[in-house]
Parts: sequence; C-alpha cells; structure tokens
Amino acid sequence: MLDFVKILMLTQEELATHVEGVAKEKGFNVISKHPYYIGINIKDNQPCLVAHLDKVGEIPKPDQVKFDYPLIRSKDTPIGGDDRCGVWIMLELIRNCYYQYSYLFCFDEEKGCIGSSKVDVKFKPTCLIGLDRRGFNDCALYGYDNDELISVFETQGYKPTLGSITDVAILAERYKIACINLSVGFFNEHTKDEFININAMRNTLEIISKPEIISKLSMKEYKYKEFALDDTFLYDIMCEYCGQKIASRIDHHGLAICEDCDLIINDKYYTS
Ligand SMILES: [Zn+2]
Ligand SMILES: [Zn+2]
Repeated sequence: MLDFVKILMLTQEELATHVEGVAKEKGFNVISKHPYYIGINIKDNQPCLVAHLDKVGEIPKPDQVKFDYPLIRSKDTPIGGDDRCGVWIMLELIRNCYYQYSYLFCFDEEKGCIGSSKVDVKFKPTCLIGLDRRGFNDCALYGYDNDELISVFETQGYKPTLGSITDVAILAERYKIACINLSVGFFNEHTKDEFININAMRNTLEIISKPEIISKLSMKEYKYKEFALDDTFLYDIMCEYCGQKIASRIDHHGLAICEDCDLIINDKYYTS
C-alpha cells in the first residue's frame, strides 16, 4: 500500500518514469513514447490492459491525504484514484511478473484521450481491458462489445453499463477489437470529494490475476459486433442531474449527463 500512496503524489511525468523503472527492473520490454504512451510487454494474442497516467486537478500534498481505512481522500483536490487505481493494479501485475498481459499506460486521457489517440505500436491484442471506471462492479461498454467478453466479467460479479469516451474506446477502434472498462474503486472522480476504496481496487486486481480469467481472455480474439452502439439505446437515457432525456452526449466515465448540467458542473467542481 505504501507504493500506492506514493504514486498518488507523483506528477504524470514522475509516474511515467516510475512505471518504466518497475517494468525494466522486472525484465519487461518497454516502449517509451512520451508524452503519449508507454507500452510494456506488447505482444500479439494476449489481452492488453490500459490505464492513464494523468489526473484532474493539482497533485495532492502529503498533508492533504486522509486515510480512513479502506477509504483514502484528499483535501481541496481530487485524490486521483482516477486513474492511479488502474495504474497501481497494472504495476502490481508487472511487479509479480504477469507476462500474460500487454500493458498500455496513456498520457493525458483527461484532456481528450490525447495519448491513446497516438498509440501506433503494431500488435494484435485478443481484447482491450480498461482499468479506469468508477465504482466497484461496473464493466463499462462503448459499443465495441463482445458478449463472451462481457460474460467473463459478469461471472465475476461485474454489471454491464454504458460508458462514453475513454482510452479503450479509442484503441478498440484503432485495433478493431472488443473492449471493456472495469471499476477500479474510485468514486466522485473529478471533484475534490473523490475517494478511493482500496478494497474495491484490490478486488479488481484479484479477479484479473486469476489464472482462469487470464486463460479465457487469451484463448481467442474478441471481435466486436459492427454497429453494436445503437443510437436509440445511447440517447434513451436520463441526465443523472436534472432527469431530462439526454439529447446529445454522455460524459466521461459513463456519468450520464446532459449538456446544460455539464456546463454547471464544470463550473462548480472541475478543478483543472
Ligand atoms: Zn479516467
Ligand atoms: Zn477522469
């Protein structure tokens, strides 16, 4: 856990250097393309995990971080579980020599998936698994869906839910392969009320460490159904703030929100 607290206090660049150091120490092949992405153990025919290195708002200082086991939060700035929870899970797998996964750490997801849009490494993953979803048991979908892939995680207690735009969706389009984004234990992301439940974070680590899960994710290419994202499904939902039907967009990390409320919430909470 000490390492997790440490990574909460690193800048994006410092975190990138830390990730590369851990991977090299364990003998992994590292592709460094700053400031866009770091690819670790990039190989064909295995699942690829994805997390982002940046966070919204200032980096918390040691005296701002508050522990109340199993919760961690920070005064005045988002704690940054989005997405340091995902980064930590991937680092734990790397530390424990899980060569069965490829790993992509992307820069600047919060600025509009800048890093993932520049991923140009040639490989054929079996599927893309984002570790960048709030809550504890969501598997978020982006229209690049494969029912068998969803059921792998349903059997582990995750519930399918609609996501919006994030790194794995960009990469699914690029690599023509299905993606899913799993909860990693952060809540109220992008606000100073963000908190992390480390038990939820550890639960996702535990599940993706299971040999039977890794072998299911590796055994075939998970193709997505063309046009899986059905417009009526996408827009037949209500804004989580005002209850109006959503006309045109859904916010980051699957927060269903209309454009009017998005403007208000941006003013009120977003700290970047
Ligand atoms: Zn995120
Ligand atoms: Zn975010």
